[in-house]
Amino acid sequence: MIFEKKIEEMIRRLEAKGIDNPRVLQAMRKVPRHYFVAPGMELQAYDEKALPIGFGQTISHPYTVALMTQILNPKSGERILEIGTGSGYQAAILSEMGATVFSIEKVRDLALRAERRLKQLGYGYRVLIRIGDGSLGWAAHAPYDAIIFTAGAPNAPEHLFAQLDQGGRLLVPIGEKDEQILTLFIKEQQKIVKKEIGKLRFVPLKGAHGWQS
Ligand code: SAM
Repeated sequence: MIFEKKIEEMIRRLEAKGIDNPRVLQAMRKVPRHYFVAPGMELQAYDEKALPIGFGQTISHPYTVALMTQILNPKSGERILEIGTGSGYQAAILSEMGATVFSIEKVRDLALRAERRLKQLGYGYRVLIRIGDGSLGWAAHAPYDAIIFTAGAPNAPEHLFAQLDQGGRLLVPIGEKDEQILTLFIKEQQKIVKKEIGKLRFVPLKGAHGWQS
């Protein structure tokens, strides 16, 4: 198959960059990323780059998705809130690893496309998508084992700590519009532990707790 070689090359690149969790690598191998890119871009799907998905939005680099998934380390049966469904690719990876994903997307057409795509690929039963402002979280399904932001927030989303279960992880890029620091928060018994991972570049988070313009 035309994509098999490209998939293996992507896996080799991810390993060379430090992705060593076999479950993450297996999910990256299994989820057909070429279904998640815009028509005509399928052959570039496994290259190390973000690609446009319409409405000024992008599907993140393979390494970014793999790194965030490795940090989050989702276990089978966990409940994860994703803010920024986009193409649905990150949600598919988490679902492939056995998590139930609650995902919010503000752009209606992207949400509907992602929902259709995930159903076609057999992930629909473990991914629930909602159209709306994900910066507010999704209180109805809380508490979550993990929350992942796939858009860059201007500030730490402390208001969402209440939607995290004990021991829960919240992974979010925080910073300026054009560059952020990927930051992990862990909710422990009496405190929130914060760890800065490194610089990344995401599209801006919009909404009540995001950028206003
Ligand atoms: N996770 C996606 C994927 O796997 O394709 C990539 C996400 S893309 C980098 C960021 C997405 O966040 C965009 O689709 C954008 O519309 C969405 N977004 C930005 N602000 C949002 C908000 N407040 N609520 C929900 N979605 C938001």
